[in-house]
Formats: sequence, C-alpha cells, structure tokens
Amino acid sequence: MSQYVLLRHREIPHLDQLDVYLKHGGFEAAKKVITQMQPADVVNEVKTSGLRGRGGAGFPTGVKWSFLPNNIWPHYVVCNADESEPGTFKDREILESNPFQLLEGLMIASYAVQANRAYIYLRGEFWQIARKLDEKIAELEKAGLLGDHLFGTNYSLRIYTHLGAGAYICGEETALLESLEGKIGQPRLRPPFPAVYGLYGKPTVINNVETLTNLPPILEKGAQWYRSFGTEKSPGVKIFSLSGNVNRPGNYELPLGTTFRELIYTHGGGIPEGRKVKAILPAGASSAIIAVNDDAILDTPMDYESVAAIGSQLGSASVIVADETVNMAWLVSKTVNFFKHESCGKCTPCREGTFWMNRITQRMMAGRAVESDVDLLANVANQIAGKCLCALGEFSVMAVQTGIRQFRTDFLEQVKQQTAPVAQGD
Ligand code: SF4
Repeated sequence: MSQYVLLRHREIPHLDQLDVYLKHGGFEAAKKVITQMQPADVVNEVKTSGLRGRGGAGFPTGVKWSFLPNNIWPHYVVCNADESEPGTFKDREILESNPFQLLEGLMIASYAVQANRAYIYLRGEFWQIARKLDEKIAELEKAGLLGDHLFGTNYSLRIYTHLGAGAYICGEETALLESLEGKIGQPRLRPPFPAVYGLYGKPTVINNVETLTNLPPILEKGAQWYRSFGTEKSPGVKIFSLSGNVNRPGNYELPLGTTFRELIYTHGGGIPEGRKVKAILPAGASSAIIAVNDDAILDTPMDYESVAAIGSQLGSASVIVADETVNMAWLVSKTVNFFKHESCGKCTPCREGTFWMNRITQRMMAGRAVESDVDLLANVANQIAGKCLCALGEFSVMAVQTGIRQFRTDFLEQVKQQTAPVAQGD
C-alpha cells in the first residue's frame, strides 16, 4: 500500500501536473461524488470518517458542514491557506506539490454544501503559489473538470484565489472573511458564526488546506478505510511539521496517535549531538509548552485528546523541539515578539498586553531586567488571558504562562545576565 495519503507527490513524480494526477486516479472521487451521491450522503460519509479540522481547532469537518442552513443562499466554501504560524509549513508543501488533490477536495466540499463559488485565501507571501494555482484552475476549466455542468450534471463550480497582505490574524476565520471582502483583516464578533453569517453575510464553510486534501481519498476509499488510521477519537493521518533542535526537520505524514518519541527519534533523527529534549511546543508558537522532565512525556500519543491530557494542544501539529541548551526565557521572548507584531489592535487586552509583554521580555534579553520582572510578565499575561476578542490574544500568553510556571529558573538566570548597556528611555 502507498505510504502517503496527503503527500503523494513524494512517491509520484510530477503529481502537480494534470495528466499525471489524472493517470493516478485524479478527480475520480469528485466525479463519483457529483454524479452518484446526494450532498447529504457526502456530509454523512465525512462525518463517519471522523475527519477533524487540520487547521488547529480539530472540530469534526462533517459536523461543521451540517451547520449550514438550507433556507439561506448562496453558500460559499473558503479554503484557508493563510498558513502563518511559526513552525507550521505543512499546507505549503501540499499547495506547491499536490495542488490538484486540494482542488479536488475543494470540489467535494463545495458539492457537499451546494456551493457554486469557492475561494482559496492565501497569505500574501504565497503569491507565487497563488499564481501557480490560478494556472491549475484554468487548466481544469479548459479540461471541463471545473465550471458549468460538471461531469454532465447540473452542478457548477467556480474557484478563485485571493491573496491577503500577509497578516497572521487573517488565518482567524472571521478576519479572513473580512479580508476576503476587501476590508481590514480584523476578527468579527461571534455569534453569528460563519456557518450562518459568513462571506458577504451568507452561510460559509471555512476549511484548512490539509483538511480539504484528505477528502478525495476518504470519498474514494470510504470512511471505514480512513478510520483504519489513527485513534478512535482522532482518526486518520496527519502531517506533523517538525522543527527546532532535531537532526531531520521537515513534514512527516503519520497516523494520529504516533508518539512524540517516534516522530522525534525515528523520523526526525533525534537531537543534535545526542542531547536531551527539554521542552516541546506541539502546536507552534501558540502552544502551551510541555516540559519533558519525565521520559513518559515522549511516549504520549500525538492525538487531540492525549496532548490535551498533558496540558497542551495538538493544534496544527507543528512540533517545535527545544533541547537542554535552550533557555526558555529566550524561546518565550520569541513567541511574545511574534504575537506583539501580529496583534491586530482591535481589542485593548491583546493590543496593550502583547506590547507590554514584549517590552519586558526584550528587557530580559537585553540584560536590563530585574527579578520582579518575571512576576510582572506573568501578571501581564494573566491580565490578557480570557479577555480577548479572538484566539490570537489567548495564544500570546500560552508560552509565557506555561514557560514561567515550568522553567522559572531559566527566567531568573536570564535576569542575572546583566551584560548589555542600558538603553535610553527603557
Ligand atoms: S485578540 Fe488581538 S488579534 Fe484578536 S481581535 Fe483582539 S487585538 Fe485583534
């Protein structure tokens, strides 16, 4: 059996070319769905497969689709290709190397919710990928695989790409919709949720690139086949983006429930110079940090429930590894700096809080902090937590709170490094 469900281009050279994709069963699943299945049956098959959103929240995909009301039209489907989380690079590989499987998945999702327009929203830095996608879409239209009367039916679908300006916040569903409508990319108040009031105020499904790419094989081989991978509550395969202090960083497609140890040591080649793992951020910069002070942590299965049980979240599975040489105050300062830069400024706790957390961590890194700054930093983080309009604000405190709680000595050590000259006005 093939090793890959999502990263099939690694086995099949030139899979990003239409003739090669068609030769390997391309668009058979879309054809079957559109010509032989009712939309409700497609939704049910995806529900049965247990596929959960791969963007980070892990919400069941079929259930999400079923929230769309059938008395408000038109419906829209939006592919979230705004991959911007530090440590996350899985969608990019699919977009660049297996784009037709994503487009086929988008067709299946659109048919399932009876949308005749679908959009792929890409982060601004992905402009070359967007151009290439435009070419692929044009090729499909020319070949009659996209457009009007698909496969001889009455179903029609148009797909458009849209480039953002490169703001992390636009990965948040409602900010993405605002940006897609041509407005400033800032989150909307919820409710109403996008399933009811989405793009142009109409019911909208927003799915991540990896989520959509799972659909053709699920519809081709069936929900039970998909459930043969992964765990009961987290079925299927997942792309783990591995980075940090590992010998072989990269994307690894593995069943959900694979352990950290297997990812880091078997696939990632272990830690440089045989050093020990000190901490893991399982979901990129927005992770609650997991201290690896017990070997059993490495044997934790990477599925949504097991990672939550050890105090973090699987999210988009961007596993960042820090070895024993890393001072966690430094690592936390990096995450804080990122969130301060990306805060959209709409709500005060996040806008002001990330600014002040950044001031304190920068002071620490510059050797100008005092011991009480560690508690001050924790205090500012606690003022932000639970008071923000969207998840970005909540994400910004994850590493800070868990870092100080588990690695306080690293912060105190950093404070003792009073080496740099004092800058004016800080
Ligand atoms: S939490 Fe931050 S990013 Fe989200 S709306 Fe508020 S200011 Fe903007």
